Amino acid sequence: MNQICARCLMDTSEPDIRFDSNGYCNHCTNYLALYRQVQEAAADPNTIDSFFNYIRSRGKKSPYDCIVALSGGTDSCYVALLCKKYGLRTLLVHFDNGWNTPIAENNIQKVIEYTGFDFFRYRIEEEMFKKLQIAFLKASVPDVELPTDAAIPGALYEVAEKNKVRSILLGCNYHVEGILPWSWQYDARDVRYLKGVYHTYYANGDLKNFPYKSVFKEIQLVLFKGIKMYYPLNYTAYDRSEAAAQLEQIGWQRYGGVHHESAYTKIVQSYILPVKFGIDYRRIHLSIKVLQGKLSRDEALALLRKSPYEDKENEILIEEVCKRFGLTRREFDELMKLPPKTYKDYPNSAALLSLIHRLRRLAKAMARVFFRDKIASVGD
Ligand SMILES: [Zn+2]
Repeated sequence: MNQICARCLMDTSEPDIRFDSNGYCNHCTNYLALYRQVQEAAADPNTIDSFFNYIRSRGKKSPYDCIVALSGGTDSCYVALLCKKYGLRTLLVHFDNGWNTPIAENNIQKVIEYTGFDFFRYRIEEEMFKKLQIAFLKASVPDVELPTDAAIPGALYEVAEKNKVRSILLGCNYHVEGILPWSWQYDARDVRYLKGVYHTYYANGDLKNFPYKSVFKEIQLVLFKGIKMYYPLNYTAYDRSEAAAQLEQIGWQRYGGVHHESAYTKIVQSYILPVKFGIDYRRIHLSIKVLQGKLSRDEALALLRKSPYEDKENEILIEEVCKRFGLTRREFDELMKLPPKTYKDYPNSAALLSLIHRLRRLAKAMARVFFRDKIASVGD
């Protein structure tokens, strides 16, 4: 029988979940510890000013103070607006995997026009990327979005290195996200896993133009070139609906759901994951609202009882996925019926990555205690 956390909405649909003697799960316990740090940093209005001053000082010798990774979604567009407000010399970079919705394209355009910042669209090689997406769908693992999640940081590091920019700003933040179990979406930095899945279906496939970055390459870029990623929204009392309201004033439009700026992400989160794997991302989004006291647990449970996939638009999107991947609808349905697997069924470097994660957390905790370094220590 399914056990559900007594504090949030996570349950045993996440196989690695653990409960303490109060019936609280490891996910909300970890989230609350990190969120308290974020709240503490954001409570001081000077934190965000110091953060942008710090980014400006890092960019002195570069043609740009920073890169903003612009997806078209609320969080990243708002980061671009903050850069404009603080007068940072900014290069907007959009990673294009060919699945942008028309709303996302409009929103990117509006942010470019309003900020007047330079813009670079990173287009990934279409055929190679399509094969990777098909391989992950056939592999029967929930990490169907891993090709995109692996390519984004790689592409950003590549553009930063080429343009000699040292700071990359992202919209991810602990105000609206922060719970994501590996069994639901495994670590995108695991190059061994990415290659393992790809070569299972395309034995002679070539990934030489894929912009992945191994953890070692990332460490090298940080240590020798000083290129680092930052999460500015963790340094301010960010409210997504207020941000959306501000963005609407420049002609930006709202989406139906979180991360629905990509048609593929929409079909993955609202159909493939819940139907095939019993994974419902609304559990994460609603849990966070409950943990922050913005929604009662009962209200959240009532919302969760509604079906995530009874949506006419999904049928149109499934047809689109089949057409692009060269699958018949029947083949797609067969893939949906394959027994679910996880990253553990393929070559992976989970043990090593887990150790590196723990070391990074320890380094951040030390920076916080010994150097009182809010900027180095908030978030992951
Ligand atoms: Zn919990």
